[in-house]
Amino acid sequence: MTLEQTVAYKAVSDWVFLDQSNSGAGAGGGGGSNNNNSGIFVDAFLDDFGVQWYQPKEKLVFEFHSHTTCSDGFLSPTKLVERAHHKGVKVLALTDHDTMSGIPEAMDAARRFGIKIIPGVEISTIFHSRGDSSGAEEPVHILAYYSSCGPTKAALLEKFLGDIQEGRFLRAKNIVAKLHKLKLPVKWETVSKIAGKGVAPGRLHIARALLEAGHVENLKQAFSRYLHDGGPAYSTGSEPVAEEAVKLIRETGGVAVLAHPWALKNPALIIRRLKDAGLHGLEAYRSDGKLSVYSDLADAHDLLKLGGSDYHGRGGPHESDLGSASVPVTMVHEFLKMARPIWRNAILEILENYIKDPSDSNLQHIIKFGRTKAAKTNLPICNANELINNCLSSWLSKEERENAEFETIKSTMGDLVVHAESI
Ligand SMILES: [Zn+2]
Ligand SMILES: [Zn+2]
Repeated sequence: MTLEQTVAYKAVSDWVFLDQSNSGAGAGGGGGSNNNNSGIFVDAFLDDFGVQWYQPKEKLVFEFHSHTTCSDGFLSPTKLVERAHHKGVKVLALTDHDTMSGIPEAMDAARRFGIKIIPGVEISTIFHSRGDSSGAEEPVHILAYYSSCGPTKAALLEKFLGDIQEGRFLRAKNIVAKLHKLKLPVKWETVSKIAGKGVAPGRLHIARALLEAGHVENLKQAFSRYLHDGGPAYSTGSEPVAEEAVKLIRETGGVAVLAHPWALKNPALIIRRLKDAGLHGLEAYRSDGKLSVYSDLADAHDLLKLGGSDYHGRGGPHESDLGSASVPVTMVHEFLKMARPIWRNAILEILENYIKDPSDSNLQHIIKFGRTKAAKTNLPICNANELINNCLSSWLSKEERENAEFETIKSTMGDLVVHAESI
């Protein structure tokens, strides 16, 4: 490991294993010096020439892009987390299409394995090359990564995603109608059944219906013949404009990352425009390595370079598995440097909202994804300090939780009683 990698590795490990170091239960006990946590994670040794080297004790595997049955994936959130654990993933971002409904279940499962879940979503948008509807357009997917408290304006994001979901239903119906005209009938009931209860059907679900009906030999053929962008059965939904989604992600305390730019016809223009709208990064790593074209575009626009497997659980030899896109630890470090202050401010905003209006629903925003020890102990939480420590210790460091802004919040919140069963 180079010095830069070592520094990044220590910083990333500190965040990944915050819960352990906060509770003092870290393996190996740590050093007790200023660098108290890092001794847990890194072995330092001198070589024959007196040069100090570091060896990580544990490999840090991140997965930044994954899907479940809550959108078009094949595994439930619990099964996805189990698989991630078997693949050695330590931090898993769940990024279903246009919904965050799988996050609570994933969080529950992740607690059993000591995995950290980044609540995420992959938003379907449309990009207009001329900035209005007169020019060429193409679909663009934008990933959003939130803190353990989720988006700050949850209702606003939910409405935004709800509208897209509604559009997806309409679009799926249009595609099915077009297939009928092409003499490739599939039943709407079959498509809905494949998608699952309450899940807005996507093209992959329709492809599976085509396969079941015997109209194609495999899923790939369903796309290459009929369902690809602009294909004979293709239909657009009512997706929002890409720039709008980026702005909304920023407004709601998330980090906005352009998904799979290699699927775009016009990546350079899209990246430039989205950067102007506030994009934080783009995917440049896949399971087959770094893609230099997109890495260079990211560098040119001073954007983060991230990546993930886009795992759907389809199976088969060609699917990249969870954790297989190895984003270098230095890139993860850059991501966390950007994300952590954004998440910290989002958490502050959510706490402040609760002070302004101490309603149950505002309390739920604090604890919905964050409960850790509270659930284990079953004891009521009696003050703000306990609430913040219980729910946020895996996300914010001790220093962050004890800074002036958080102290003000704790003293304003004062005593409150939250029963574990209400969490
Ligand atoms: Zn996508
Ligand atoms: Zn995806």
